[in-house]
Amino acid sequence: MGISQRVKNVMLLLWVILLPLTLATGFSLYLAQQQILRQQQADASLLIAQAESISDEAWDMIDRLRPLERQSCDEIETMLQRYSAQYAYFRSIGMTASDLVTCSSAFGNENGSLQQMILGPLPEVNRAWWSLSVAGTWGVPNRPAVLFIRRGTQGYGAYALVEAQYLLDVMRAIHDQRGNHLSLRVDNGYRIETDDDMPAEPSWLAPRVWQQSSARFPIHVTITVPGASVADAWRQNFFTFLPVTLILTLLLAALANVFIKRKRAFADELRRAIAREEFYVHYQPLYDARHRRCYGVEALLRWRRRDGSEMAPDSFITLAEREGCIVSLTHHLLRLIVRDSQRWQLPDGFHLSINIAAAHLQDAQFVDDIQHVASQLSRHRLTIVLELTERSLIGDDALATAHLRQLRQAGIRVAIDDFGTGHCALSYLQRFPLDYLKIDRGFVHAIEDKGGETPILEAIIHLGHTLELQVVAEGVETAAQFHWLCHHQVRFIQGYFYARPMGSQALMDWLGLHAEQPAPGH
Ligand code: C2E
Ligand code: CA
Ligand code: CA
Repeated sequence: MGISQRVKNVMLLLWVILLPLTLATGFSLYLAQQQILRQQQADASLLIAQAESISDEAWDMIDRLRPLERQSCDEIETMLQRYSAQYAYFRSIGMTASDLVTCSSAFGNENGSLQQMILGPLPEVNRAWWSLSVAGTWGVPNRPAVLFIRRGTQGYGAYALVEAQYLLDVMRAIHDQRGNHLSLRVDNGYRIETDDDMPAEPSWLAPRVWQQSSARFPIHVTITVPGASVADAWRQNFFTFLPVTLILTLLLAALANVFIKRKRAFADELRRAIAREEFYVHYQPLYDARHRRCYGVEALLRWRRRDGSEMAPDSFITLAEREGCIVSLTHHLLRLIVRDSQRWQLPDGFHLSINIAAAHLQDAQFVDDIQHVASQLSRHRLTIVLELTERSLIGDDALATAHLRQLRQAGIRVAIDDFGTGHCALSYLQRFPLDYLKIDRGFVHAIEDKGGETPILEAIIHLGHTLELQVVAEGVETAAQFHWLCHHQVRFIQGYFYARPMGSQALMDWLGLHAEQPAPGH
């Protein structure tokens, strides 16, 4: 196994470990944020409901004071005190005229202005009914309250001052339970807040802030959850998921391991098969219809396993390509061809077609590999043709083109194999230095005995001729196909109709009998 393969495997394993952990981390953070939001919403609703019910009580009380509006303080003072005492919420209730407090349950008729009562300016509102949270009041400067006011048409009115303590109690209860920070504000008034110290924030997690308002009153609530609490919830979720995450990680790691092993297993199997000489080469004769004789062969790799079973080349070539072993397999093919060639007697210029995988074409050694085999075969004065599929031409085309140019200068020819089955843009055909276009057998099989419609096949042949490429038809199985192709100026024919692939010795025998003979019926 090469270094780069080992690095790839380590990367894969790292991925497999990091992926579930990253997912679990992200998901538990998201979940923590959702949980906190739901909690904030529930707490805010609770607090708002409490503030609304206190407001309802206050407005009810103000309504009850309406009949007392024009009476003197002496007459109503005791009644005010009695009313006020009925509800523990009230700091005081009382009557107003313009901005003056004329009578209150707390101080009788010894009152000042409303401003003096709330120790600050009044809001600039023109509404007859308004309410405001305040930091303190006359006589009780350090404890927040909420003021409710109704002003009548002639300046007479009534107020109720509600202790904020009851709201603060609810807020502190929520705070003690959750560790969050709550603040409540009536209209633009004082912010009634839990007097907690927010814990030092971990800088990497921002606090979560939620604001909610009452639909009925100008009551606004803000709930802030410190980043540390988010982190806590996150951690808790993470540890809840940890067992599942670990199981997932182990499963993925096991899968990755199987994958790596299988890859290595195939590479090992291939190496063993090469050592045990399980590979051999078949050669399929190619027919030149113009000169009515055999003009070359295509080398096709075969694998007979030790148990005698043959593995289909399509399968093992695909596997070798996928598992990254195709280049070493092709090296072996080239060695086998050189070995077979020692017993060959071939005319000058005889074609030897060799299939080359896409990965090999991009390999730095590619040109050397081919030149090496060419030099070892030089005694035969062969024309070597490299068969490339359309896929080969798609990758790094600058490198591929450079390799092919170099080889063509050295007399090597290039064919595009299985033409019409890949996804090659036609422009590639012009850009690449090509000599032969091999029409895929699928198109050839479209030729029926009775000569049906074959528009695509005709278009491909036409395209080949236009680009000045030699056209080869492969997979020719019947006399009808053969004649149709000859009739349509396809010069080179390959297929069972002419000859099947055969071993090296069988090829020599076959060539002795048929090399100079026309194909049957030609
Ligand atoms: P290919 O390059 O298109 O090779 C031609 C295939 O068509 C061969 O199949 C051949 O046996 C088959 N064939 C020839 N005449 C006929 C015919 O008249 N009818 C039909 N139905 N088939 C015919 P094979 O040997 O099974 O090879 C399959 C594929 O495996 C090849 O297709 C090629 O893509 C790949 N392959 C074979 N040997 C090598 C090799 O040494 N290197 C590489 N890279 N690929 C190879
Ligand atoms: Ca081929
Ligand atoms: Ca082919």
